[in-house]
Amino acid sequence: MRIDDLLGRGLPTISFEFFPPKTEQGFTQLYQTIEELRPLRPSYVSVTYGAGGSTRQKTVELVEKIQNDAKIRSMAHLTCVGHTADQIGGILDDLWKCGIRNVLALRGDPPAGQTVFTRIEGGFANADELAKYIRGSGHDFCIGVAGYPEGHPQCLNKTRDLEYLKRKVDNGGNFVVTQLFFDNADFYRFRDDARSMGIKVPIVAGIMPITNVSQIKRFVSMCGAKIPHRLLTKLESIETSNPDAVHQVGVDYAAMQCRDLLFNDVDGLHFYTLNKSKATVEIVKALNVKHAA
Ligand SMILES: Cc1cc2nc3c(=O)[nH]c(=O)nc-3n(C[C@H](O)[C@H](O)[C@H](O)COP(=O)(O)OP(=O)(O)OC[C@H]3O[C@@H](n4cnc5c(N)ncnc54)[C@H](O)[C@@H]3O)c2cc1C
Repeated sequence: MRIDDLLGRGLPTISFEFFPPKTEQGFTQLYQTIEELRPLRPSYVSVTYGAGGSTRQKTVELVEKIQNDAKIRSMAHLTCVGHTADQIGGILDDLWKCGIRNVLALRGDPPAGQTVFTRIEGGFANADELAKYIRGSGHDFCIGVAGYPEGHPQCLNKTRDLEYLKRKVDNGGNFVVTQLFFDNADFYRFRDDARSMGIKVPIVAGIMPITNVSQIKRFVSMCGAKIPHRLLTKLESIETSNPDAVHQVGVDYAAMQCRDLLFNDVDGLHFYTLNKSKATVEIVKALNVKHAA
């Protein structure tokens, strides 16, 4: 059930990311989404770790349910925010007992109201420390780490950013999943630079289908990605007059992006689904690609 058993073996992975809903109704919708995505035979799915804390226990419960009930290989995201090493150790024990073998090791963003991330006493300052802790935890997890094709928003020096990525990999990261991006040239540059720096592990591309213009503008402003000018202009020109067309433009663009990535031997495509299936189903069906499962 390890993700690195699938990666780098000739076929790309296709994976989907979910977040733990806050309400019962949200969970019902998510299970429906999972059922709609299941026929696509995902290589794995992942569940985010809530920034605020309220959904954190739900990450463990959800990832366990998806893996053991829905029988889909799953990965739990885990962040350093507000946790001591001992607490992280407890979460890792719980995940291992549930049969989860894949963890995405993240620092997380500073808690609401703070602009700078600060290590809590007994906790971790960066994801490289978390990756090292997981590697030494006594459980043989497959560890994913995050990469930023356009650079992490808090790091103004891309070479430095890649040095930190290398540290995460050297500390135990088995593969990289990238932040969303819309210009493949950013991904190829990032991948080439990573390879020349000695980062040899598989690099999976993060894909976010655009289905809502104001929502995507909010996301990119938070994560520091940019939307190509021509795409943005096109989306803005139909946003109010024809909102349904936004979905089609977003799906067509993401499908084109994925085709190009596959042609250029991407290790995997990771879809940020926002717990919805429609756009992802349409894109993956359009790709009609043989993938690792
Ligand atoms: C695929 C993916 C999934 C994500 N899932 C979640 C989620 O589930 N929950 C959530 O809250 N957030 C999630 N995030 C967002 C992520 O938590 C933020 O982007 C966060 O700001 C950085 O996390 P990181 O693991 O990349 O941190 P790090 O790798 O620690 O990097 C953070 C910053 O510190 C710098 N840095 C790294 N190491 C060092 C060092 N040793 N010394 C000094 N500076 C250093 C880096 O250059 C960067 O600017 C996700 C991001 C991605 C790409």
